[in-house]
Amino acid sequence: MPKWGENIAPADRVIDLEFAVAGLRDYVAWSSVPAIRFFAAGEATHGFSRMVEIHREARRLMGPGLRVELQTNGDFGEEVARWVEDNVHIVWISADGPPQLHDAQRPRLDGRGSSDVVLANIRRLAAHPNMQFGVRATFMPEHFGRQIEVLEFFRSLGVRYVCGAPAYSSTVNPNITVPVLQDFAHHFVPAFYHAQRVGMFYQTHLMVNFDEPVACYCRACTKPAHPQLTSDGYVSCCDWASFGPGYLPGLLQDCIYGKWDAAAKRIVYFPEKQDRIEIRNIETLGAGPCQGCPVLEHCAGGCIGKVVVRSGDLHKIDPNWCAAVKYLAKNIPFNAGLYPVRHS
Ligand code: SF4
Ligand code: SF4
Repeated sequence: MPKWGENIAPADRVIDLEFAVAGLRDYVAWSSVPAIRFFAAGEATHGFSRMVEIHREARRLMGPGLRVELQTNGDFGEEVARWVEDNVHIVWISADGPPQLHDAQRPRLDGRGSSDVVLANIRRLAAHPNMQFGVRATFMPEHFGRQIEVLEFFRSLGVRYVCGAPAYSSTVNPNITVPVLQDFAHHFVPAFYHAQRVGMFYQTHLMVNFDEPVACYCRACTKPAHPQLTSDGYVSCCDWASFGPGYLPGLLQDCIYGKWDAAAKRIVYFPEKQDRIEIRNIETLGAGPCQGCPVLEHCAGGCIGKVVVRSGDLHKIDPNWCAAVKYLAKNIPFNAGLYPVRHS
């Protein structure tokens, strides 16, 4: 079996700087919010020098008020850690709990576990006085019942914000398939209330919009779309579509709505695809597949990546997702105060 990343051409692993700057310019023309987010299908900090260059350009374009977010595996050394402390305002580290859980799910390419470095960085960044710091934990189906244990582990490291997700696939275990999401939700509810009792906040993608009514599930469908640039030269709307068509499963290609034209030095957008993304909102869904759904304003069709891999289309629903959201809605109130973390 090829190791993760081996089938990605070297030229497609780090984003072209001119493409990144063009994307920043387009974003600045569309939005007055000075913000940038680093995320990659592999690991953003592996292209650290390019990150620093992009950050410099973003500061030049958006000024000192720039808000920086990083989604990372946390497996980095002193130089990166210091830069993150100095320059990043929102950090989410993907980590799965105590070393035996984390290392089984996230080995390095040489097979060794990564928990020694990752957990040290979690402890370090969780102590940052101004940063919004959180952990994103992935649970295998056999570990759904360990959510409170994992929360407590991260609490012992000083973490206050945790996002939990059931594993949909795994680069380590090819037998992982989409689980019964209601099984995850069943164990999520007591963990959600446990977190509140101990001064933490625990969320999952199934209920991120329970705190207020929304028009669409997340920023992926907001208008104008927030361009998410892939390292191989495409514009995507969603984390689940982090590469262009050369690497992406066919059913996620609806998420790609632009392409870098290196010769013309500009991004070419695909308006029809962009429109189809941006109309994935409660109006369209409510007149279509989500008609009559009592949780429409707090689900809005759900997370594109997770729903599309099951339904096969941006404008279809996944009954597995729906059952879990409706179960959570029976057990977690809507509109009971805004959640304390910004959802990417
Ligand atoms: S739809 Fe889901 S995976 Fe895609 S950007 Fe939004 S939250 Fe992330
Ligand atoms: S629960 Fe299902 S039907 Fe209801 S809004 Fe969400 S995706 Fe649509």
